[in-house]
Amino acid sequence: MRITLIEDEKQLANIVKKGLEEEGYSVDVAHDGEEGLYMVENYPSDVVILDIMLPLLDGISILSSMRKKGIKTPVLLLTARDTITDKIKGLDSGADDYLTKPFEFGELLARIRALIRRKADIKDTVIRIGDLEINTANREIKRGGKTIQLSAKEYAMLQYMAYNKDKIVSRTDLIEHIYDENFDANSNALDVYVNFLRNKIDKGFKKKLIHTVRGAGYILKEKE
Ligand code: CA
Repeated sequence: MRITLIEDEKQLANIVKKGLEEEGYSVDVAHDGEEGLYMVENYPSDVVILDIMLPLLDGISILSSMRKKGIKTPVLLLTARDTITDKIKGLDSGADDYLTKPFEFGELLARIRALIRRKADIKDTVIRIGDLEINTANREIKRGGKTIQLSAKEYAMLQYMAYNKDKIVSRTDLIEHIYDENFDANSNALDVYVNFLRNKIDKGFKKKLIHTVRGAGYILKEKE
C-alpha cells in the first residue's frame, strides 16, 4: 500500500516515513502544501496523512480541493492542537479520521490499517483465501495452519492482492501501490518479488492461489 505523507516538520516526516517503510508501505513525502496538493492529484495513493498547519497551502485547503476534484483517497488529518474546531472543520471538509500530535506510532499504524480496510470494504482484520490466512493487524501469514515468513515488500504485495482478491491486479497497479515515485518501472524487480512470493505461498501446495493472467497481471483467488 502506498501512502502520501504531507508534513512540514522534516524530522517527524522522516521518522514516520522510515517507520512506515519498515511496515512494508511505500511512502511519498511532501514538505509543503503546494507540493502535497500536486502529489495527491498526480500520484496514486491508498492513504493520505495530512498535517493541517503547512507552509504555502494548509491541510484543510488541500483536503477541500482534492474532494472537490472527486479524489476519494482516505485522509488522516494530523492536528497540532487538541482543539475541537480543527477536528470539526477537518471532518466536515472530508477527512476520514484524525490524530492529535504528539501521537504513538502504533496508533498511527492502527488507524492507517482501519482506513485501508474501510476503503476495501473489509470488516475482518483476517483475510482468507482458501487455506491462506492474512492477518492484517499483526501481519501474520498462515497457510494450512503453518506460519509463513515474508519480507516487508512481499507482504505489501500479498496484502494488496488480498484486498483485491478475485480481481485481476495489473503490473501497473502493483507498481503504483507498493512502490514509491523512485521505483524504476522498467526493472524486473516486480517479477522477481512475485516469484519470491509464489515460492513462499504456493510451493508445495497442490492448489495454487497466485495466478498469472497472461497479458493482464495477477490474481489471488481460491477457484482455478
Ligand atoms: Ca505543520
